[in-house]
Amino acid sequence: MSTTWHVLGAGSLGTLWAARLARAGLPVRLVLRNEERLQAYRAVGGLTLVEQGQAQCYPVPGETAHSPEPIKRLLLACKAYDAVAAVSSVAHRLSADSELILLQNGLGSQDAVAQCAPLARCISASSTEGAFRDGDWRVVFAGHGFTWLGDPAHPVAPFWLDDLAIAGIPHEWSADILTRLWRKLALNCAINPLTVLHHCNNGGLQAHRCEVATLCAELTDLLERCGQPSAAEDLQPEVERVIQATAVNYSSMYQDVSHRRRTEISYLLGHACKAARRHELAVPHLEQVRQRLIAHLENLGLPSD
Ligand code: NAP
Repeated sequence: MSTTWHVLGAGSLGTLWAARLARAGLPVRLVLRNEERLQAYRAVGGLTLVEQGQAQCYPVPGETAHSPEPIKRLLLACKAYDAVAAVSSVAHRLSADSELILLQNGLGSQDAVAQCAPLARCISASSTEGAFRDGDWRVVFAGHGFTWLGDPAHPVAPFWLDDLAIAGIPHEWSADILTRLWRKLALNCAINPLTVLHHCNNGGLQAHRCEVATLCAELTDLLERCGQPSAAEDLQPEVERVIQATAVNYSSMYQDVSHRRRTEISYLLGHACKAARRHELAVPHLEQVRQRLIAHLENLGLPSD
């Protein structure tokens, strides 16, 4: 009998994973915020995944954090700023043989979660898949991509990667997941805040080449100082390539702001600036962008942490 996948967070990525695992016949359960959300979910009867215009509903069973069954495998699919509260809500159901798969973007939440669940194995993930909600319990699979998974503490891959293969979730075990997370964070710090401040799509940053280059130089220094030289390699040319290749796209931070959603700033640019302070490295331009972004969010009445 396969181990049940408990998916905490029925948002974009949580639904994308839960639907594909369920479609492959694997046991999946959704952990919802509270009884009210559970009743609302049960009234609808399942999660809908929209792929290439085709909608399909998957009747994944739901529960709340208060269900009594132990959790052996937890896919944590909430935002970075909700991760600690979400794991704490199910901490009493975890044990030494529990495994947590952390889908959060950026850095900082993974360590905070590991402290809340010291016995469990924490596996970090970095994904380039794209999905968005177009209704409650309904998600559109917008961009095919890839997910790297890794555990900086134990390099051995878990056997359940087979479940991901069966479910058609493109993935690879990564011995250097921290490098991947830092690299993604650096790309994000060089692009996303500027798209918000200049109110433009990614391609719009082609008009702000100098500003991008200055941030890349500080980020390169920072990655090297943090012991991540591989993540620092050729950062600026890659940032330029990404800006060009995704010119018509709006960054995730831009979309969060335009939908008046809280951003993950503390786990991206905020984490970079905090790491620089810890290493006593001056990053004046990154710090200035962070402060401009905070002021911008506050002006809009959005959370700035
Ligand atoms: P999302 O659509 O906002 O979904 C998060 C879900 O977590 C929401 O349904 C939220 O419930 C739920 N949640 C939060 N706290 C909870 C709790 N204590 N108990 C139960 N449910 C809880 O977020 P997302 O876009 O899937 O992003 C998740 C993470 O993946 C982020 O770090 C993001 O940066 C990263 N990521 C996303 C994508 C993407 O394409 N979406 C791609 C790569 C990486 P409510 O709705 O009730 O608040």
